Amino acid sequence: MAQPGRPPAASGHSSQNGAGGERYSNGPVQNSLMHSSQMLDGQGFSSTVPGLYSPQIPTKVPVHPSSGQYNFGGSQNVSPLSNQGSGQTLNRPPVGPISMAPLQHASSVSQMLPPSQNSAAIPSSSSSFVPGAYPPALSNWQYGQTPMSQPTGSQTNHFAHVAGTLSTQPLSSSGSTNPATSYQYTVSPGGPPLQNSYMKPGSVPPPVNRPLASAFPPARPPLGPPPAGGPPLVRPSATPVGPPNSNLPQPLLNSATNQEAGDATAAASDGSLVQNSYDAIEGGGFMATTYPSPAPQNLKMGRNVGYSYPTLPPGYQNSSSPGAPGMQSSPLQYPAGPQPFPQPALGTNHITGSMGGLSLQPEGLRSINLLQERNILPTTPLQAPIPNLHEEIQKLNCNPELFRCTLTNIPQTQALLNKAKLPLGLLLHPFKDLSQLPVVTSSTIVRCRSCRTYINPFVSFLDQRRWKCNLCYRVNDVPEEFMYNPVTRVYGEPHKRPEVQNATIEFMAPSEYMLRPPQPPVYLFVFDVSHNAIETGYLNTVCKTLLDNLDLLPGNTRTKIGFITFDSTIHFYSLQEGLSQPQMLIVSDIEDVFIPMPENLLVNLNENKELIQDLLRTLPQMFTKSLETQSALGPALQAAFKLMSPTGGRISVFQTQLPSVGVGSLKSREEPNQRASAKDIHLTPSTDFYKKLALDCSGQQVAVDLFLLSGQYSDLASLGCISRYSAGSVYYYQSYHHQHNPVQVEKLQKELKRYLTRKIGFEAVMRIRCTKGLSIHTFHGNFFVRSTDLLSLPNVNPDAGYAVQMSVEESLTDMPVVSFQSALLYTSSKGERRIRVHTMCLPVVTTLNDVYLGADVQAITGLLANMAVDRSVSASLSDARDALVNAVIDSLSAYRSSVLSIQQPGLMAPYSLRLFPLHVLALLKQKAFQTGTNIRLDERIFTMCQVKNQPLIFLMLMTHPNLYRVDNLTDEGALNINDRTIPQPPILQLSVEKLSRDGAYLMDAGSVMFMWIGKNCGQNFISQVLGVPSYVSIPQNMTHLPELETAESTRTIAFISWLREQRPFFPILYIIRDESPLKSSFLQNMIEDRTESALSYYEFLLHIQQQVNK
Ligand SMILES: [Zn+2]
Repeated sequence: MAQPGRPPAASGHSSQNGAGGERYSNGPVQNSLMHSSQMLDGQGFSSTVPGLYSPQIPTKVPVHPSSGQYNFGGSQNVSPLSNQGSGQTLNRPPVGPISMAPLQHASSVSQMLPPSQNSAAIPSSSSSFVPGAYPPALSNWQYGQTPMSQPTGSQTNHFAHVAGTLSTQPLSSSGSTNPATSYQYTVSPGGPPLQNSYMKPGSVPPPVNRPLASAFPPARPPLGPPPAGGPPLVRPSATPVGPPNSNLPQPLLNSATNQEAGDATAAASDGSLVQNSYDAIEGGGFMATTYPSPAPQNLKMGRNVGYSYPTLPPGYQNSSSPGAPGMQSSPLQYPAGPQPFPQPALGTNHITGSMGGLSLQPEGLRSINLLQERNILPTTPLQAPIPNLHEEIQKLNCNPELFRCTLTNIPQTQALLNKAKLPLGLLLHPFKDLSQLPVVTSSTIVRCRSCRTYINPFVSFLDQRRWKCNLCYRVNDVPEEFMYNPVTRVYGEPHKRPEVQNATIEFMAPSEYMLRPPQPPVYLFVFDVSHNAIETGYLNTVCKTLLDNLDLLPGNTRTKIGFITFDSTIHFYSLQEGLSQPQMLIVSDIEDVFIPMPENLLVNLNENKELIQDLLRTLPQMFTKSLETQSALGPALQAAFKLMSPTGGRISVFQTQLPSVGVGSLKSREEPNQRASAKDIHLTPSTDFYKKLALDCSGQQVAVDLFLLSGQYSDLASLGCISRYSAGSVYYYQSYHHQHNPVQVEKLQKELKRYLTRKIGFEAVMRIRCTKGLSIHTFHGNFFVRSTDLLSLPNVNPDAGYAVQMSVEESLTDMPVVSFQSALLYTSSKGERRIRVHTMCLPVVTTLNDVYLGADVQAITGLLANMAVDRSVSASLSDARDALVNAVIDSLSAYRSSVLSIQQPGLMAPYSLRLFPLHVLALLKQKAFQTGTNIRLDERIFTMCQVKNQPLIFLMLMTHPNLYRVDNLTDEGALNINDRTIPQPPILQLSVEKLSRDGAYLMDAGSVMFMWIGKNCGQNFISQVLGVPSYVSIPQNMTHLPELETAESTRTIAFISWLREQRPFFPILYIIRDESPLKSSFLQNMIEDRTESALSYYEFLLHIQQQVNK
């Protein structure tokens, strides 16, 4: 196994949990961060913890005998062999025996093989499928495994715990002497001390952490009047604006995260109370009402109370809500005693294990012999499994498009999860465009006083005055305001409030959720205008699209906009009111960039629209004669950052080549001859410049979106960091040229329009909470993890997906269900502070069979893909590929040995996982992970970016495309949308066997579509749809269907348009004949077929079977 060339410290768990340099803050601490080795190392794709690739990379992790890190069985120590990192030790951990002990139930399905039999699975594989066979890498894929089990005493700072309880926590001086105490999972002020392990014994609840009054925009020293003369400008003598080293007052919003940033001792020793940033706000935001403390919470008791009302203490008086004065004398009459609220009991624990899933998926109980059943691909898009909950509860559950779990039956223990060999995690699309979204404007946002969970459909009402949190089980009071339901206008039905009836809801946040007034929308565009860039002709397209959509930019009267162009120098544009035309200011000192006349460079869009339009019209012509080939991208980004830092906002960068001068300049690292190899390709950034700048941006609420339009290697691995850590997006237009590649022009136009006009959230943070006992430990997506589990999203857009990995930290005994809640706090383009909350509820199961029954194969594949990107970057592509294959082998082996009572020949899979080998094979053939092909490095990296940043639905489409026959479309089963009839042809298996020479087929691979026309395709289709007389007259590079007045044409175009409309990117349609040079790309996506470098699906199954049956 290749040793990644990075120091072990990079992934040491001490840095992960300690108060080391991972967390980011602004202000003085920022600088020490910048020089911390952890930060410099962590430029990969993993966002496990800032600065880390992944916590589960044994070869890089210092061996820590007591850490339990390599364990599969929770507490079992792995033999030292597995840590030696030599590729020859093939010790795959035993499947069964370790995890038997914790499983107390006597289920008949969990038949474990005796150890001796299991050990048969351990010996090395002599398979020829994957070179290097099974390195100890396997143990890296500890699905859901807690990254590090610590001694109990130090659990307070296990970051996985935080999902529930990290609330406002200014440092108390008592606990600041070592890193472990820098997080204090203390309860809210005034609240009872929690009797649980979150709280370090003896720590003092912190004082109330009030949001500071606003100070926005932050005061900055003016930089003097704009120079009257032409460029180059003389540098103003005033202090430079906002570099990290500046001693100027930082914007208020950033002043607060000291205690999160690692300098805990210093922060506390001087006794200063440190103001929290948005962390505090999302975690905080207490209701204005102060509630007297109830009796100390006993969590054990809380659990036993369960969900059903009959277990309530008898004779409960609903008017006796302790310490809620004034509530006794409610004017309304309602019966005393426990209220029979029409809330069904949660959970399925009364259903026996083998019955699980029965009501919903009868076929789900089947085992499938994959070698025999070849037609397993559904002909309609695969739906997410429906959690096996009571109908009334499931009806309220979150839409799986927004929130999805890899296992819809949550294993009760980590041991059970380990046995299943499946990853436990969540896939989120939290800001998806929704046609219906309930918005609550009430000033009282009801949240659990202990863990800050928002009230949701899965809490239980003990009565009208008390509700029990479904994440931490604390009993909370129902505030008086919540008694009135604005929807039904009825008093006394808190359980019918919209917050309790909708798993997805948005709150208008009151001022407690703000540290400063909501920022205005600010958009800064940064254009590469070097000779190379002008050659591509992109500037025309971009300026025109921007002109066309200027009025559609999300915003209000406060919207600001600005422009920077650059080649070897940086050009600013003054759009000052009163100017007759935009004024260009050139700064040629790229070593120490400064901002000339900052007040006129970002201007109000409405008030200066004419000047802005003027600039957009002239910009494309301004540089047509430029011979400047150099690119000072780094300095231009620095300038953009300085310009944006006072407010925050969005930077859109357009780049066409490798940056060549100034900071951040890069050298080509691609060796075209090496493309096919899985080894020695440069997936890691070559400089930390872009990541560091991204973190600076993140700290100032600035996100950077990168549009890379390049025909040559541009080191996207390095450049992409600017977007990844600032929560931006990456767009890549390979070989963009307005004449040579006209189809890219349309793609850019369409995607840019979507980009410019889509919803945007500013200064956002997201936190995911889950029921106590579960813990979240690894995050995937574009963001920066601030303060342990708070995702910092300077911008949030509706097209971004996220994933997290989880583990079962404490047994979920007696819990019929668990819940997950994501809360996204953001500023809308209209300047409102809003919180979008999604809550999902899932049943807990105790048998392996049930875990498999609830497996969501798409979510599993999506999470594995995210993990494989991390693995490719931190170890190697072949490691990642091995791990993907092992994921299939391990889970099917576990199923065979532990669930199937009769050993059958063939390759048996639970019905839920029947597509698992196919999906994994598709991943192996996907551009991110494929080997043996001539894929460009930037293209591979871009695909990896997409894996990380796309919602699951699109990730699946780009992994396993949909194939349809389209020469015989009918209206049978068609959709009818807005008077349009949209045919719904069946989805076909991805194999040339399914192609007929007399047909035409559409392959939808997400961002690209191929329409393959068979040699003997019917004349009708060719003339009525393609509009050409014969097969031979189909043009080589046809990319559009003519709109013909024929039923066939209408149907085909309606279908393709409908497919396109449902995604935020614009797939190019290539219409190809059998002789087309693009045919190889089409065939490359035929996942089930053998290619020169990859196995066919059937061969892959045989390989898996061979391993499983060992
Ligand atoms: Zn709670």
